[in-house]
Amino acid sequence: MMSRRRIDSRSCPPGLFGEIQTPIRTEPLDSLYDMTSELGRGKFAVVKKCVEKATGKEFAAKFLRKRRRGRDCRAEIVHEMAVLEAARNNSRVVNLHAAFETDHDIVLLLEYAAGGEIFDHCVSDEPLPERQIIRLIRQMLEGIHLLHQSGVVHLDLKPQNILLTSLSPLGDIKLVDFGLARKLGTAGELREILGTPEYVAPEILNYEPITTATDLWSVGVIAYMLVAGESPFLGEDKQETFLNVSQVNVDYCRDAFSQVSELAVDFIQKLLVKAPEDRPSAAECLSHPWLWHLGPESESSILRPPRERSMGKWAVPPEDCEDKENFLDSPYAKRVRLEEAVGEGCL
Ligand code: ADP
Ligand code: MG
Repeated sequence: MMSRRRIDSRSCPPGLFGEIQTPIRTEPLDSLYDMTSELGRGKFAVVKKCVEKATGKEFAAKFLRKRRRGRDCRAEIVHEMAVLEAARNNSRVVNLHAAFETDHDIVLLLEYAAGGEIFDHCVSDEPLPERQIIRLIRQMLEGIHLLHQSGVVHLDLKPQNILLTSLSPLGDIKLVDFGLARKLGTAGELREILGTPEYVAPEILNYEPITTATDLWSVGVIAYMLVAGESPFLGEDKQETFLNVSQVNVDYCRDAFSQVSELAVDFIQKLLVKAPEDRPSAAECLSHPWLWHLGPESESSILRPPRERSMGKWAVPPEDCEDKENFLDSPYAKRVRLEEAVGEGCL
């Protein structure tokens, strides 16, 4: 038997969605799914791999505790479902298949992303080839662009919340974890303190208005981590991390950057700027020359590369490059970490 509940929109915090379409079913989950291994966990959720008995299909079951710190958090969970529903046509967002309710949890049955977190590639001794990093960043931006077009900000973009459909060959990205996502423009200005210190934008720390640019800051942090293999703002403790973020204390000169292309650094530098209004939008990022200098790929993209050969607003003044040692023969010449890997047929 299926049960469907109407949610009182008054119980939703501001900036959130209202009613959901997905029925929250109450029949025992284990009669329909076999639970297998644990895939990950956060503060209030455990995610397990499972197999639907009827079809043999794999899913990720996200168990979200209904009571947290003695408070009923059902509305927040329903909100997470509503955001996933609103992003149903966004192929870069994980799909919500079904939902169940147990005594303690609401369980979201999500499309299974078998390739794990891109976090693993940020901390690995074997970094991804630049061509792959570019492909993943482009996909991430496509997903974020569509979210932003519908007025949704994710607000918790970090390498742990960006998954891959497969590991080998490296698949496509899927954005997950919409627990902090908000709808902009519904209830006036949005100011909240949320997210993980290492990844949050300065405006969050300063309790200033949240905009779509807040997500773009996180894209800068993720891009930094993918190319350099370390977290740009992480300090010895929370206070130091907060200080690093609010002062935009970021180092592009460390050893980790010795093999990173000029264009990659330019892309990251344009995003890691304090004033949100000075950051490019997701659509603008998608036309940055870094994302296209290795040539467009064959897979279909939501946004196409810029038509003109001129780099438009992203132009890098040649004199910037002439001073630098190792400058090759064009302002866009790459000093790619693993150029040789480009020929590996990863795309
Ligand atoms: P939380 O809100 O607690 O952070 P997430 O939705 O981020 O929960 O899930 C926690 C972890 O579980 C993720 O970082 C990821 O490793 C794993 N995970 C989440 N969703 C999926 C999925 N659809 N497929 C595979 N693994 C997943
Ligand atoms: Mg998470």
